[in-house]
Amino acid sequence: MADYQLFIGGAYVDALAGETFETNDPATGQKIGDVAKAGREDAQRAIEAARKAFDEGPWPKLSGKERGAKLNQIADLLDAKAEKFAEAEARDGGGTIKKATFADVPGASSAFRWFARMAEEQPDEVEVPGSPFPPSQNWVRYEPFGVTTGIIPWNFPLIMASWKLAPALAAGNCSVIKPASLTSITALMLGEVFQEADLPPGVANVIAGPGGTVGEELASNPLVDKTAFTGSTEVGRRIMQLASGTVKPVTLELGGKSANIVLDDADLDIAAACVLFGTFFHNGQVCESGTRALVHQSVYDEFVSLLVDRAGKMVIGNQMDFATDLGPLVSRSQVETVERYVALGRDEVGEPICGGNRPEGLADGLDPNAFYNPTIFSGVDNKAKIAQEEIFGPVLCVIPFADDDEAVAIANDSIYGLGGGVQSGNLDRARAIAARMRTGTVWINDYHLISPERPFGGYKQSGIGRELGVAGFNAYRQAKHVHANPGGSRDNYMHLAALSSNI
Ligand code: NAD
Repeated sequence: MADYQLFIGGAYVDALAGETFETNDPATGQKIGDVAKAGREDAQRAIEAARKAFDEGPWPKLSGKERGAKLNQIADLLDAKAEKFAEAEARDGGGTIKKATFADVPGASSAFRWFARMAEEQPDEVEVPGSPFPPSQNWVRYEPFGVTTGIIPWNFPLIMASWKLAPALAAGNCSVIKPASLTSITALMLGEVFQEADLPPGVANVIAGPGGTVGEELASNPLVDKTAFTGSTEVGRRIMQLASGTVKPVTLELGGKSANIVLDDADLDIAAACVLFGTFFHNGQVCESGTRALVHQSVYDEFVSLLVDRAGKMVIGNQMDFATDLGPLVSRSQVETVERYVALGRDEVGEPICGGNRPEGLADGLDPNAFYNPTIFSGVDNKAKIAQEEIFGPVLCVIPFADDDEAVAIANDSIYGLGGGVQSGNLDRARAIAARMRTGTVWINDYHLISPERPFGGYKQSGIGRELGVAGFNAYRQAKHVHANPGGSRDNYMHLAALSSNI
């Protein structure tokens, strides 16, 4: 029996083929446990469990209030188990225990609470008065799609799982989600919570396994009515192709290369903190990271030296220690990807002004090959590959600009449009710039703050659709118009007289 099993049809089970894979603490390489490795046939049985739960089970027939109550119960249970989930999240993915405690677990439970509220408050049937075809009445019903699937990345598994499951369930769908293999355990652990909450079997299923088989099945299986994906833009394109076979609606949350604009009227001290947090939080392994800092030329030198000074103060070490700011990257191969980009940056731009190497002097037991120093390239041309491509690591490009128009032009010169920031002492000026940025979220004098009440998603190649907010709830419902003629007299059928007088 695997240490972490698949959660299908309300029960924990091994993969049909009995296969497992190891999951490790990236900081030390120590094994955490064996995870059941689903194959295509496990994905199919999870989809069938969800289909059965939707077609025959009670879930879609419950009232919004009843579904909301269940989701609130799930949120309460998650909060009650916060320590256990936070520890597993930090150990498995290398994110700091601070992040897991203050962002991941509360981020997940608050998503369940928000969508509970959506289920309770959003009407599922709305009268449309004043029919143009009297005496008919018309109403719009908002109905679940049926079976939804969610495929999620390795950087925020618990939050990403909740962003896919909570709105799907709130709207009355039944769902299957697949976490990334590097970080699957907390998503699988959600099964415990669903069991304790007495969620009907098959309503929520979680399976771990390779994207190329399990993920492809979730995006293409004809029993699936809608699919939602968070991950790289490259795989997002593949998901669209797979979903097109049965014309499934897709929600895609993809990559980013966001610009954080520092104006000449900014409080440079605080702006430096916002830029560093915006870039290096979770080692830059965050889709909306502000990895391009655009800095007004009149404050450029002063600002860059503030950045270098502060970056050097970040504490790198064991992610399980509350004093640590930067833990390991998620995997050795992610460190190697960062190294390839830093080598490219050295060719394109020159020596980084800080970092550019693995840290030395880490505590015993920590693998130095799993860590990377925060790295800053200054004087970067926005056309450089390191300014255009998503690195997904602790690398910041600093780019000078002369005026607001140029800042906006550089910010928008990207295939991506996920996040962005404006650091300024003048809210009106910052607001005008935010309005011109072609991106799904802009933080003024802040960064990275996401809440379930507000929509999140990308412009351009950063994605399609929105998660969270009211839009994120409606992404899991479809509208049905019902037209009701009271019948009776032929006078009530005016279109027959007008359009089909011979029948
Ligand atoms: P990835 O695209 O490699 O994998 C994401 C998920 O897709 C994983 O579960 C993987 O197993 C699965 N997958 C891989 N190939 C597949 C296929 N052919 N068919 C179906 N599923 C497949 O991304 P990652 O490396 O896990 O995460 C990093 C990426 O995710 C970055 O590009 C980052 O920007 C993006 N991301 C975006 C957001 C957002 O909200 N926009 C949030 C987090 C991460």
